[in-house]
Order: sequence, then C-alpha cells, then structure tokens
Amino acid sequence: MTTSNPIQEKKQQGSFELHCLACKNPMTFSLLDLDQHPIACSECGKRYSFGEETLKRQLKKFATLCRAIQESEEILGSGGIALTVGNDEVKIPFKILLTRLKSTLDLSIGNERMVISFRVEPVAL
Ligand SMILES: [Zn+2]
Repeated sequence: MTTSNPIQEKKQQGSFELHCLACKNPMTFSLLDLDQHPIACSECGKRYSFGEETLKRQLKKFATLCRAIQESEEILGSGGIALTVGNDEVKIPFKILLTRLKSTLDLSIGNERMVISFRVEPVAL
C-alpha cells in the first residue's frame, strides 16, 4: 500500500461522464462541479443542471459506491454475488465489478432520461 497524498486523493475522486442528449458529445464533470453553475456541453452548449438536491444526493452516493468498490479491491477477489437466472445460479466474482462492469446510473432529469457513468482513476499500486 502506498501512503496517500492530497494529489493522489484528488485524482481518486473520479469523474462522471455522460453523453450530451442533443449532440452525443461526451461530457465529464466531477463531484465538485455538482455544486457549481449548470454544466454546459462543449459542443452544442446545451446546459445540464444537477442542482436538485435529490439528484445531487444520488450522484454523490453513486460516486461513493464506485470508490468503495475500488477501495475494496483487496478483498473483492475472494467475494462474489450469486444471481439466479431462470433455474440456474450464476456466481459472479466481485472482481468483475472492477474490470468488466461499466458503472452507470440511469437518471431522469426533467422529462429526459440519461445514463451517467462514473470513472475512478486507476489506483497506482
Ligand atoms: Zn451537446
């Protein structure tokens, strides 16, 4: 384990990514941006406001979850979840959460549905 330093911690805050509903341009923003002014698409200028408390809360929880998954990497290798698919039980190691699963959250903003993904920078070991 490396000792944490402020710069590394900031990096590990991670960032949200969504595709602009109007032009599909990928937009990224951080947790800190949620408290700021509306976030505008750099391509078409469409603005997204994440100021609503419920929305902000959900996004923060989502980020916390994603970071917790990554921070638990050490023990995830030996844990897993079992899903029942039809009559079969499928075991999925938590490890897959780190490598295969794209962490996404479906949100309704106004009348629009959007999918936001979260990326945590890879931890330097
Ligand atoms: Zn756009």
